[in-house]
Amino acid sequence: MSRRLIIAVDGPAGSGKSTVAKLIAQRLNYLYVDTGAMYRALTLKALKVKADLENEDELGRLAKKTDIRLEQADGSLKVYLDGENVTMAIRTPEVTNSVRYIARAKPVRAHMVTLQRKLGENGGVVLEGRDIGTVVFPDADKKFYLDASFEVRVGRRYKELKETGANVSEEDVKNDLKKRDDSDINRSIGPLKKADDAVFVDTSDLTIEGVAGKIISLLDTR
Ligand code: C5P
Repeated sequence: MSRRLIIAVDGPAGSGKSTVAKLIAQRLNYLYVDTGAMYRALTLKALKVKADLENEDELGRLAKKTDIRLEQADGSLKVYLDGENVTMAIRTPEVTNSVRYIARAKPVRAHMVTLQRKLGENGGVVLEGRDIGTVVFPDADKKFYLDASFEVRVGRRYKELKETGANVSEEDVKNDLKKRDDSDINRSIGPLKKADDAVFVDTSDLTIEGVAGKIISLLDTR
């Protein structure tokens, strides 16, 4: 029987990591865990209940009483917040603009890391995020860190958003990415960082399929 690995894919927004992680999970028939979607879902809840985004303890309590589920169906991922399908609702600019408050709250991160470890502990899983290889699964079987130039990342995000019909300018996307990069890199807990033993892939000049193929060729699942 082939080994069921734990695969970590980290990197900033627009690095291509979501698409790549999804493709790898599909090809290996593994569970795909989009940890960013979990932070986004909690952000949506915090906005709905008008939580104080500066109050870490309040956000931590909110996280504990919130039910977030990821479900795989027909090759796509559905996100449920307290039983409600929020797959689209977590991608709005409003959520994107506020997610950094949720992501920097220590009790929130502790809770999310526990959930993510439970989802991945049996292997056969691809987790993507910012701190998977460094914090969530420092002993993952394989770790990848994807990155691309700022311009390429902005271009990808802009195209994605336009395809969903969002009313955003390239300048908006630039500002959002800059703010999230700064906040992800500089937060004191679980910052965006390449694990020492992660394979670095610059995706600036590669197609997503090319990156997925390259990563799969590096995996030993025998
Ligand atoms: O991956 P995505 O861009 O959807 O993630 C949304 C936000 O969630 C990121 O900007 C980041 O601040 C946060 N995040 C995180 N840790 C993770 C995954 C995402 O802090 N493991």
